[in-house]
Amino acid sequence: MRFSGLRVLKEGLTGNRGWEAHWRDATPKEAYDVVIIGGGGHGLATAYYLAREHGITNVAVLEKGYLGGGNIGRNTTIVRANYTLPGNSEFYSHSLKLWEGLEEELNYNVMHSQRGQILLFHNDGQRDALIRKGNAMRNQGDDAELLSLPKLKRILPYLDYEQTRFPIHGGLLQRRAGTARHDAVAWGYARGASERGVDLIQNCEVTGIDIEGGVVKGVQTTRGAIRAKKVAMIVAGRSSQVAAMAGMRLPIESHVLQAFVTEGLKPCIDHVVSFGMGLFYISQSDKGGLVFGGEIDMYASYAARGNLPTAEHVMDSAMTLMPMIGKAKVLRSWGGIMDMSADGSPIIDRTHIDGLYLNAGWCYGGFKAAPASGHCMAHLMATDRPHEAAAKFRLDRFRTGRGLMDEEATGAQHNLH
Ligand SMILES: Cc1cc2nc3c(=O)[nH]c(=O)nc-3n(C[C@H](O)[C@H](O)[C@H](O)COP(=O)(O)OP(=O)(O)OC[C@H]3O[C@@H](n4cnc5c(N)ncnc54)[C@H](O)[C@@H]3O)c2cc1C
Repeated sequence: MRFSGLRVLKEGLTGNRGWEAHWRDATPKEAYDVVIIGGGGHGLATAYYLAREHGITNVAVLEKGYLGGGNIGRNTTIVRANYTLPGNSEFYSHSLKLWEGLEEELNYNVMHSQRGQILLFHNDGQRDALIRKGNAMRNQGDDAELLSLPKLKRILPYLDYEQTRFPIHGGLLQRRAGTARHDAVAWGYARGASERGVDLIQNCEVTGIDIEGGVVKGVQTTRGAIRAKKVAMIVAGRSSQVAAMAGMRLPIESHVLQAFVTEGLKPCIDHVVSFGMGLFYISQSDKGGLVFGGEIDMYASYAARGNLPTAEHVMDSAMTLMPMIGKAKVLRSWGGIMDMSADGSPIIDRTHIDGLYLNAGWCYGGFKAAPASGHCMAHLMATDRPHEAAAKFRLDRFRTGRGLMDEEATGAQHNLH
């Protein structure tokens, strides 16, 4: 089934009776060439690119809940390519390019909106750091513009430029950054994978990983054992738990990240704005809700809901930056479980067990990474060689100390990245 304007018109005139299910709800077979644990954005994208780019279609995606019910459906949807360090820089650049062709490629409206992201700076040190970041982005071939204060005031007139606690001096704009509709990304990849023969199996929790003589043989699930030649662990916040089934201890801690949305308002914020000093960011959804968040809750947890002190901190930052937000009613808040790696950068790699692969460590920034993560993971699984855009995401950097990508320069403390 292809989507098109003509099709929408026809269905609208004929009672919307011609739409089909977007994917097959498959029942598990006894064996597959590839089993992917986790039906989030990264697992589904991996399945899609395995089928699309490598012709590997005897694949099952095993999801313990429903597709898109994890962090892929819980994030604040920011898509950007503004990393500084080699390794991250080329990877996120690759991802943004995939985003730019994604709707056409998937024939699916993921509402990708390149409305621009502005990082604010509040002192000379922050300005210099953002200039350096902007130069790194431009060297990578991406766009970055430094905004002076008068220009910023014209673009974002609603910020509080009078407050003296964190005076705003300017910003760094990436025009190609923006947002997308998060769960539509999962649905689009699911549909694309399913159409190419991938089995998407919901309500199927993996409870064990079968390994014999250092070689993976399959998985145990709540719907029975499934044999597989290759198994990928792509479970975001549950990475440590699933890897433990293979006897592995990962350099990852799981932390909660909260987000908030207000009632729908008329269009007033037409960029993504990040307030560095208050650790706060905001955009406006197409429905009009102001979507915003802050930093992670600082303790390790598997609870997908946050605590009050962090919520208070986020509201405090919001009021400092743009007091007008005090008039809006917060409708709801929620939390997701972040797989915080020790250097804040991800892992896409083989493990020491033959046929067992790991995709993890996305921290709070894995939504924008989903296309490139799936693309590079599929390449790795199909060829057993890392894709050049993800060549530095090796697992052994945490053992050897070589190749660590400490993007935030906060050291090896998971809750500071
Ligand atoms: C509040 C919040 C805001 C965020 N904002 C942004 C943002 O603006 N931009 C950005 O780039 N990123 C953002 N992120 C981060 C981003 O959402 C995640 O990094 C990314 O979604 C993780 O990858 P995923 O989509 O594959 O994860 P998930 O959707 O969590 O997929 C993992 C799946 O594995 C399944 N699973 C786990 N264990 C098992 C098992 N044993 N068996 C079978 N299945 C299992 C889970 O049910 C889940 O569906 C945010 C996250 C949160 C919570």
